[in-house]
Amino acid sequence: MALIVQKYGGTSVANPERIKNVARRVARFRAQGHQVVVVVSAMSGETNKLIALAKEMQATPDPRELDAVVCTGEQVTTGLLAMGLKAIGVDAKSYTGAQVKVLTDSTFTKARILSIDEENIRRDLDAGKVVIVAGFQGVDADGNITTLGRGGSDTSGVALAAALKADECQIYTDVDGVYTTDPRVVPEAKKLDTITFEEMLEMASLGSKVLQIRSVEFAGKYKVKLRVLSSFQDEGEGTLITVEEDKNMEQPIISGIAFNRDEAKLTMLGVPDTPGIAYQILGAIADANIDVDMIIQNVGHDGTTDFSFTVNRGEFAKAQGILEGVKQKLGAREVTGDNKICKVSAVGVGMRSHPGVASKMFKALADEGINIQMISTSEIKISVVLDEKYLELAVRVLHRTFGLDQ
Ligand code: ADP
Ligand code: ASP
Ligand code: MG
Repeated sequence: MALIVQKYGGTSVANPERIKNVARRVARFRAQGHQVVVVVSAMSGETNKLIALAKEMQATPDPRELDAVVCTGEQVTTGLLAMGLKAIGVDAKSYTGAQVKVLTDSTFTKARILSIDEENIRRDLDAGKVVIVAGFQGVDADGNITTLGRGGSDTSGVALAAALKADECQIYTDVDGVYTTDPRVVPEAKKLDTITFEEMLEMASLGSKVLQIRSVEFAGKYKVKLRVLSSFQDEGEGTLITVEEDKNMEQPIISGIAFNRDEAKLTMLGVPDTPGIAYQILGAIADANIDVDMIIQNVGHDGTTDFSFTVNRGEFAKAQGILEGVKQKLGAREVTGDNKICKVSAVGVGMRSHPGVASKMFKALADEGINIQMISTSEIKISVVLDEKYLELAVRVLHRTFGLDQ
């Protein structure tokens, strides 16, 4: 007998038929004698609908109240699944994050989980029930409802698995595992049987939304056995996230191509080239709670320099406004921006021992006439910023160049 945490994403619970399908899958695991904790997302599209509703009331919704609204999508699914299980003779009980007591900090809309109270869950499991927990949500120390950021149900699932020391955390979604790149963009993408935590962290942080990055961080930190599987297939082992040592020594140099459309670039031209410039520009951006990704400061000439960085596209206008203020203060020449860019990245731990990956990547893009606007590298990834119109082409070309479709 094992303790398994299963997380089902939005498309897997999109309508009553699919929720019944989830109930049947859970029932099969119960019948094999396993204890099952299920974490569910809202029905697909629901969270977007709730956010849109909130924006009709307030252009920039109050964060506490926004969380009070968006958390409701998950609550609906927990109750429906509990009913679906009872209807086929499986005892089950639904919980909101607050009822479990998934304690988080108070950063509304992107809260972090601090601890999880296991008591209720253990008691119900021992009584033979399936426990169903609403993903994506928690409660802070003052009793306010919080949410964990888009895609946050993955993190709820992994955090519960960690707290309960579950034997496995299974993330059920609409693809049958982690692929070499998004199979919706490159149909030739191949499913990976395993991927290392390090690579999965990079893929997630560089835009592969199949797992929320925090869920991967959690799984790595607490050694949760994490697997991605399809809720639409009965067969298949999915993709297991592993530690590097487990991997075959003969691993490919590049394991996957990740991409993110959600990017924007800002440039301050003609900034006086003096100490403290980066701090003055990026300090103002950080004070506004805007995350900065890539940063480039050009070599100065004639006492001035140009300074560029990228932000999340949703924060483009806000960042631009801040830079206009900084421009006045610094006496810089001009602020320019481009919110039609994307980032494409090649990821692989095998890169460490293979020089020349970057030049191969740059050549492949050049051969297609794709201009690279920014570059950033680490030990196991190379990212480039491109005009958004090249995204699909660049992903396909790189996927082929690194032999991932073979
Ligand atoms: P869920 O609602 O189940 O959480 P998501 O839409 O958040 O599902 O994540 C699954 C989607 O992630 C897939 O449908 C796929 O389009 C996308 N995706 C992006 N990159 C990858 C990848 N490398 N492997 C598999 N899926 C990926
Ligand atoms: N329902 C939330 C979202 O759409 C959380 C999740 O599905 O993981 O982002
Ligand atoms: Mg998701």
